[in-house]
Amino acid sequence: MDDRTFRNAMGKFATGVTVITTEVDGEVHGMTANAFLSVSLNPKLVLISIGEKAKMLDKIKQSKTFAVNILSENQQEISKMFAGQIKEKQEMEFERLSGLPIIKDSIANISCQVYNQHIEGDHTLFIGEVMDIFLPEGEGEPLTFYQGQYRELAKVVDIT
Ligand code: FAD
Repeated sequence: MDDRTFRNAMGKFATGVTVITTEVDGEVHGMTANAFLSVSLNPKLVLISIGEKAKMLDKIKQSKTFAVNILSENQQEISKMFAGQIKEKQEMEFERLSGLPIIKDSIANISCQVYNQHIEGDHTLFIGEVMDIFLPEGEGEPLTFYQGQYRELAKVVDIT
C-alpha cells in the first residue's frame, strides 16, 4: 500500500487540534498535534504520538513533562505557527499550569508528567499522567481538522 492511501484514509478521521508544550532549560517549545487521546480514568492518563523527526521528541524526553492545549476555533493561526507553517518566528506569551507553559484562550489545558513511553514505528507514544487541568468558563468551540483542512463544528445533532 502506498503512503498516500494510508494518509487519505487516516484523514477521514475528524479530530480536534492541540498544541503540545514543554520547557527545557527555561526554553519553551511547542508543536501542533492531533494524535491525542484519553487513555484511562484511574489513573488519569492521556496519550500523544510524536514523530521521530520532531524536535519535540527530545524535548519531552528531557523534561519528562508536557502540556496539551486544546485549541479553539479562533486559534487556527496558532496551530499553523506551531506546525511550522508560518515561517516568521513570532513571540508567544505563555501562561502556567503546575509550572508548565500553556497557551492562553485554549478551550482546555492539561498538564502531564510522562508515565510511560513506547517507540512504535517512526513515532514515540508518550503516556502522560494528568497533573492538573484548566477548563475556562464558557462554551468555546474547538478547532477541528479533517482531510488535511481546518474546519469548524457545524451544528449540534438532536438525538431525541
Ligand atoms: P519545529 O518545527 O521547530 O517547531 C514547530 C513550529 O513552532 C516552528 O515554526 C517554531 O518556530 C514554532 N515554535 C516552537 N516553539 C515556539 C515558541 N516557544 N514560541 C514561538 N514559536 C515556537 N506531528 C506529530 O509528530 N504528531 C502529531 O500528532 C501531529 N499532528 C499534527 C496535526 C496537524 C493539524 C498539523 C498541521 C501537524 C501535525 N504534526 C504532528 C506535524 C508537526 O506539527 C510538525 O511537523 C512540527 O513542525 C514539528 O515540530 P518540531 O517539534 O519538529 O519543531
